[in-house]
Amino acid sequence: MNTVPASTFSEDPGAPAPPGVIPLSVPHLAGNEWAYVKECLDTGWVSSAGPFVERFEQAVTKVTGAGHGVAVVNGTAALHVALLAAGVGSGDEVLVSTLTFVAPVNAVRYCGAHPVFMDADPQTWQMDPAKVAEFLEEECEQRSAGLVNRRTGRPIRALLPVHILGLAAEIDVFVDLARCYDLRLVEDAAEGLGVRVRGRHVGTFGDTGALSFNGNKIITAGGGGMVITADPARAERARYLTTQAKDDALEYVHNSVGYNYRLTNLQAALGAAQVEQLSGFIARKRAIAARYAEAFRHRPDIIPMPVPAAHVEPTYWLYTVLLPEGTTIEARQAVVAELHHRGIGARPLWHPVHTLPPYREDQAYRVEHAPRLYTRAISLPSSVGLSGADQERVIAAVNEVLDARG
Ligand SMILES: *Cc1c(COP(=O)(O)O)cnc(C)c1O
Repeated sequence: MNTVPASTFSEDPGAPAPPGVIPLSVPHLAGNEWAYVKECLDTGWVSSAGPFVERFEQAVTKVTGAGHGVAVVNGTAALHVALLAAGVGSGDEVLVSTLTFVAPVNAVRYCGAHPVFMDADPQTWQMDPAKVAEFLEEECEQRSAGLVNRRTGRPIRALLPVHILGLAAEIDVFVDLARCYDLRLVEDAAEGLGVRVRGRHVGTFGDTGALSFNGNKIITAGGGGMVITADPARAERARYLTTQAKDDALEYVHNSVGYNYRLTNLQAALGAAQVEQLSGFIARKRAIAARYAEAFRHRPDIIPMPVPAAHVEPTYWLYTVLLPEGTTIEARQAVVAELHHRGIGARPLWHPVHTLPPYREDQAYRVEHAPRLYTRAISLPSSVGLSGADQERVIAAVNEVLDARG
């Protein structure tokens, strides 16, 4: 058994791993990455303009079927601008699952808006549509300002479902609720590139959607994100906001507060090379998920990742399992630590955001399941480049660690 210092895994999960270590999810650079990045260097187009930015936008737009794509520096910036372009502003409230990476919630705050935390569905792990419907029905009322949260007196402006882990939120229900209550629908599809519901790509059901090309995502631009939308006016607004809100580029006239969120041509070149390989990457992720599911099929102490309904095409971006009901947080942490000692880059899910210091004062509506899922969940190495032998090493390590615990 090779022992690996725990600090190995405190780094960025998208960073390359030292020898002998199997990382959680790292980039797979097997296509035209070198050629395209070299082209940037050879032509001098390295900064925030250049042909690869448009090429990348068009390629992602084509893959997702979104009408428009605006490339930005990262997924968090994409979420910020997706919310602004959808019309979320200061003093508004946005409904979001507490079981998510923190970025979408931070993006709500960047807009001066407030999150209202929703529970996760124990079956799908995604934002619970029944509780969202119940909250809108029971806790809110129509006033002249629109739908208002009775507890805070603030208007509910948007639903922000996060499609987590390469699965899909129950988007049809959120589309209906948004229509019924006249709310905006903004989708965090940062983990969802390649995921489809009834053939339609996640992130394209609402007013705006956000993608991420961070190093640990299914494809990477080094760092990067994209705002996607069917609405040309929202796309134009997004482009305006992400390019310093220039109303006269020569004379420095800016009629809004803009942001410097543009993606560089260098990053777009990497992204353009990666997106060419997406279908193969998705196939690998699915094969990895199938092998884990098969390997742990007979273990009563491993609850596999949800298999979605037949109308959903998942990517299983990060294969994640649950330990049995009643597992304590200390027990789960011990399992992760044991895996780290064996050189396996396992990870817990995200700390429920409503319990984090910046968000403890915000409303959390009937949250019960998200903390339990968080307590029990472990994500396993799922890189596109994970070799069959390395996956068997992960499986053997998980079996060994759980057998030893009895
Ligand atoms: C990665 C991620 C983001 C943020 O994307 P960055 O490119 O890292 O800024 C947002 N939401 C979710 C759910 C993510 O997983």
